[in-house]
Amino acid sequence: MVSWFELKREKSFIGGVWVEADSGASIEVIDPATGEIIGTVPNGGARDARRAIGAAKTAFEAWSCTTADHRSKVLRRLSTCILDHQDALAELLTREQGKPLAEARLEVGASAAYILWFAEEARRIYGDIIPSPWPDRRITVTKEPVGVVGAITPWNFPSSMLARKIGPALAAGCTVVAKPATQTPYSALAYGVLAEQAGVPSGVINVLTGSAREIGGEMTGSPDVAKITFTGSTEVGKLLLRQSADTVKKVSMELGGNAPFIVFDDADLERAIGGAIAAKFRNSGQTCICTNRLYVQAGIYDRFLERFAAAAANLTVGSGLESGITQGPLIDRSAVEKVEQIVADACTKGARIVLGGARRDPDSLFFPPTILADARPNMRCTQEEIFGPLAPVYKFETEDEVIKLANDTEYGLACYFYSRDLSRTYRVSEKLKYGLVGVNEGLITTEVAPFGGVKQSGLGTEGSKYGIADFLNIKYTCVGGI
Ligand code: NAP
Repeated sequence: MVSWFELKREKSFIGGVWVEADSGASIEVIDPATGEIIGTVPNGGARDARRAIGAAKTAFEAWSCTTADHRSKVLRRLSTCILDHQDALAELLTREQGKPLAEARLEVGASAAYILWFAEEARRIYGDIIPSPWPDRRITVTKEPVGVVGAITPWNFPSSMLARKIGPALAAGCTVVAKPATQTPYSALAYGVLAEQAGVPSGVINVLTGSAREIGGEMTGSPDVAKITFTGSTEVGKLLLRQSADTVKKVSMELGGNAPFIVFDDADLERAIGGAIAAKFRNSGQTCICTNRLYVQAGIYDRFLERFAAAAANLTVGSGLESGITQGPLIDRSAVEKVEQIVADACTKGARIVLGGARRDPDSLFFPPTILADARPNMRCTQEEIFGPLAPVYKFETEDEVIKLANDTEYGLACYFYSRDLSRTYRVSEKLKYGLVGVNEGLITTEVAPFGGVKQSGLGTEGSKYGIADFLNIKYTCVGGI
């Protein structure tokens, strides 16, 4: 059995070679549960990015000409390698990110599932033959890989967010330069180890750590990069969109969210409680599709609050490596301080703390599951992405009122609602302006379904049969003189 330590690489993976940063500089990686340094990674910059883009460009020439069947088999091997090392990869992920081991194992399993899904999709990149309006000409439509893809990923799902990008890119025939979040680089660098084991040719997957500004600037500015695929905050997404404009790149953006979670009077209360716990407290609330605002109808409000608080009180906070832990630390000090400020803001504007509310140890990054009652629209928790284990609960009266409240945000990623009324189920889901809707379900992500937001939550779709389209160009060929 391989240990997590054997999968940890402290160099970037460029053109199939493990390398230091050109400058020789490095960055420390911290375990958020203990504050201990678990290692270092290269602090790469523009020169390193150019080298990685060059390697990906060279590799593209051969990789883009391989058969779909070949690419499918390579991706299958990659998926199998991930599963073969699921426990070690999960431990590596928990050590750099903090989430409980059970959640990390699920994430690694999801990574393997995305890669396998796109191994299958590689063989279904069909074109078209279009009935010609001319008797002597024939029209065909084919699909071609866009080219070198720049992939930038966040720290909250350091393994699966990259799988969602590497899978479709390789399936389409593209090559990748990946830049993981600086706080969680090891799960991404492990893809280099896995790529070597799975026989992915050199330069097809490159993983580069270091300065986001320099590497991102090089990726977006380079004419050799055809597409940027980004998962992260809306703020950085907008910056990358602007930077990509000069070279007119294809872009996919998976950005922030502000998910409403609506419980109607006619809901199955116990089911709604279970869904709310999962949708709010998974990954300590640090998920783009985590519920940010809980709207509960007046008739069920008090009962919901009481049951929800009792269920959340059962969550166990601690190091993700310990057994029985269901909530790990937040990623860093500023994440904890942001949650504290949002709680303070809500309390000064009339919210009531029902559970939690403050760190037990002011020096740690552990924040307890927190529930606020009587939340209002003028509070920061209503408009901002909280990204922490804080659940503000709002009381509402009517269906029309709650739809308006739920849609009153610049974000449009995920939303959830609970009701046993079939006609309401259709009515409400059609009116919610979101890319993902969970009806009587709090966990809805799967590789087989499309994932993507509307409004300022993003552009494009990941996963499912739709997730490969953004990595392909459509080519129309007209053959005349027949
Ligand atoms: P972030 O600050 O936007 O960082 C995301 C990535 O962008 C990191 O790799 C970061 O690198 C990089 N980055 C930062 N500044 C950059 C720049 N100027 N140029 C190029 N790259 C740059 O987001 P985060 O805090 O890691 O992640 C949390 C956010 O991601 C939340 O808003 C969450 O909702 C969103 N998210 C969305 C989805 C989705 O599918 N829609 C999924 C997960 C997360 P450094 O780490 O080196 O700064």
